Amino acid sequence: MTQIIDGKAIAAQIKEDLKTRIAALPAQPGLAVILVGDDPASKVYVGNKVKACEAVGIKSYESRLPAKATQDEIAAEIKAFNDNKHVHGILLQLPVPDHLDSEALVQSIAPEKDVDGLSITNAGKLILGHTDGLVPCTPQGSMRLIKTVKQDLSGLNAVVIGRSNLFGKPMAQLLLRENCTVTTAHSRTKNLEEICRNADILVAAVGREKMVKGEWVKDGAIVIDVGINRQDNGKLCGDVDFDAVSDKAFAITPVPGGVGPMTIACLLENTVKAFEAQSNKNSLAA
Ligand code: NAP
Repeated sequence: MTQIIDGKAIAAQIKEDLKTRIAALPAQPGLAVILVGDDPASKVYVGNKVKACEAVGIKSYESRLPAKATQDEIAAEIKAFNDNKHVHGILLQLPVPDHLDSEALVQSIAPEKDVDGLSITNAGKLILGHTDGLVPCTPQGSMRLIKTVKQDLSGLNAVVIGRSNLFGKPMAQLLLRENCTVTTAHSRTKNLEEICRNADILVAAVGREKMVKGEWVKDGAIVIDVGINRQDNGKLCGDVDFDAVSDKAFAITPVPGGVGPMTIACLLENTVKAFEAQSNKNSLAA
């Protein structure tokens, strides 16, 4: 019987645990979310993040800037949050409008407040195996889901489709850390279907509706579907053909209700981790 991994329920439990953990902290953690422009999807994501903060006891600081905001204006906003001791995490909602250098803005976030884990410092820590860095939320959440169905991943073949800085690259590192043999596939990969068929763990993060077919998946594989695609009928679906693949997989995440809720739960957790690290640093300095 295929296990449908219930990301919504697992994320709800993480948030419940966080509530208790936050209530016991000496001060309230703060998360700043910066939104540039009026992209409707980004607005929804930011709204959800702010609501999730409130629900667990994190104070949110919202900064909404117009689409025509300049690089310097946004950099100044980030600097103000870097200097604000009540703000422990900073998130720049991506994508930002085309006239902006998003990489420069992301890198101007203080690494200890970089709850998206995109800074060179945090990416480097992940690669070097340091455990005190902040790991990007979606791969972190995906790994948590995998671990709910299988604890020991050592020696398994893992295939990640997608190599973005936000997801594919950090996901591959997390799987490597668990001693998987990892293949990262991308748009230039040849024989993708054949590569996928060899995967004990298959993670799809492309953004292409139902591209992973039933015959691409090995019997008994764990399948994590990160993609979010809007179908012609208005409904969301993933990068995996869920009906066909769920006949073969040992466990699979649905879309929606799989990886998505974990991203926010891990963002909240990263904010608390950032708070704790900053509090420790301050008490050592005192
Ligand atoms: P991205 O930056 O656009 O990266 C997509 C990746 O897919 C790229 O590495 C690209 O290869 C690869 N690719 C494109 N076409 C391909 C093909 N035909 N065969 C194999 N690989 C192909 O996207 P992303 O930010 O990683 O996000 C990927 C998906 O996950 C999107 O649907 C996004 O909405 C979703 N997502 C969901 C969450 C969540 O919370 N659930 C969070 C983040 C992202 P190249 O590098 O060669 O171009």
